[in-house]
Amino acid sequence: MATPEEAQVALVIAAHPDDGDFGCAGYAAQLAAQGWEIHFLVCTNGAKGTSDRNMTRERLIALRRDEQREACRRMGVSDVHFLDNEDGELVYDRRLLEQLVRYIRMLRPHTVFTHDPTDIIVRDSFINHPDHRATGTASLDAIYPTARDHLNFPEHLAEGLEPHRVREVLLWGSNQPNFDVDISTGVDRKIHALTAHVTQFGDREDFITFVRERWKAEDGRYLEQFRRIVLQF
Ligand SMILES: [Zn+2]
Repeated sequence: MATPEEAQVALVIAAHPDDGDFGCAGYAAQLAAQGWEIHFLVCTNGAKGTSDRNMTRERLIALRRDEQREACRRMGVSDVHFLDNEDGELVYDRRLLEQLVRYIRMLRPHTVFTHDPTDIIVRDSFINHPDHRATGTASLDAIYPTARDHLNFPEHLAEGLEPHRVREVLLWGSNQPNFDVDISTGVDRKIHALTAHVTQFGDREDFITFVRERWKAEDGRYLEQFRRIVLQF
């Protein structure tokens, strides 16, 4: 949590449209309601998420961007930014690192949310998509050390982008969560945000039942769980 003298800005870095909503919509909406400025950055163009063979890729990209904008509006998120990397083909390279460092230096977040890239298998129940791993790894490297040191991507300085220190990192989809956020009062809002992704699942009843169960803890509360890293230096 940011102290009052620190900027209350959070950046959610997601591989695909809808990942950030699954990962942290409940907490992001809580922070937004407390006055935080929340930004979403989606690293790929979302060109792969359909089984509809009549859907054109251009139409899908445009629709999924609109869906992410609508989901963010429902969460109270201030702004959504899109990188145009190809869905399903994201690799961690200097280009991706530069893109993420640029947004961190531009938006100057206190907190960054992203994918936990540590493991390929998560909770023995899903495979961590390669785009998610590339996004998480590049985001962590961008946070430390790259965005902090003016000698990395020195061309940014000439554009007026100063080095920046992120203070807190929250990773979703982790095998080692150490930070629970009670989203019981906001779980409906999270589901409302998710259902904006009409091309993916929309408001199908089986989907809503599934997600509601997914965040329900044994004691009946709804939790988002993160691996939290507080950067002291
Ligand atoms: Zn994804």
